[in-house]
Amino acid sequence: MASSDIFKTRAVVVRKTRYRESDLIVTLITESSGKIDVTARGGRKSQRRFEGGFSPYIIYSATINRSKKTGYFQVSELQAVEYNNLILRDPVRLGLSALATEIIREFTPWENNEGSSFHILRNFFREISSRDDTASCMIRLIFEILLKEGYSPVMDRCTRCNVELPDGSSNFSISAGGITCDRCSSQNEMNSWNFELWRKIMRNEIIDNDTRLSSGMLRNMVSLAASHAGKQFKAMRYVSATFF
Ligand SMILES: [Zn+2]
Repeated sequence: MASSDIFKTRAVVVRKTRYRESDLIVTLITESSGKIDVTARGGRKSQRRFEGGFSPYIIYSATINRSKKTGYFQVSELQAVEYNNLILRDPVRLGLSALATEIIREFTPWENNEGSSFHILRNFFREISSRDDTASCMIRLIFEILLKEGYSPVMDRCTRCNVELPDGSSNFSISAGGITCDRCSSQNEMNSWNFELWRKIMRNEIIDNDTRLSSGMLRNMVSLAASHAGKQFKAMRYVSATFF
């Protein structure tokens, strides 16, 4: 009887740690199993077995063994199946991609046997590599992962008093976790929020002048995600330096 199960899955590398002389411990967001930690024997040396050297922003096909005894995962082969080269050539895209990777890593549960986080991140890499409305791509990613993990902000009524709000309402409260009516909003909650724009973004329409229009909404979304995660995202330093 085999001592391990072998399977193939598409995956993205979201963290990489040195382990012993030549090994790595790698956190993957996979299409088959959600977030998993895998060991890679010889992972710091073998480019023959591990194409691209466990780089971020690449879609890999990974061959993984799972020990029946311990449950531990080990990756035996890695093939790059989609490169997203523009990400590495452009500082704005690179900063946002680092932030997207960190947010997905933070919110994806361990070993949940499904691939929705993988697909959210893969779509983001494809979009940000081919479009100019980079802020919209980032806002959409954050909404999608918050929705999936049950943190979706209240968007159709006041989060505090439950009154229905007409379109065009423009307050977004991080502490309330959604939009608020004028009566319920404190002065420092008067954040820019453009409903029409937000709906277009969520419908995946291309947004012209995206950076100027959406940067306030992007800040709100990152702050909301950070408040749910209970920590600041390290990659925001790069985004602040390149995007805002
Ligand atoms: Zn209210």
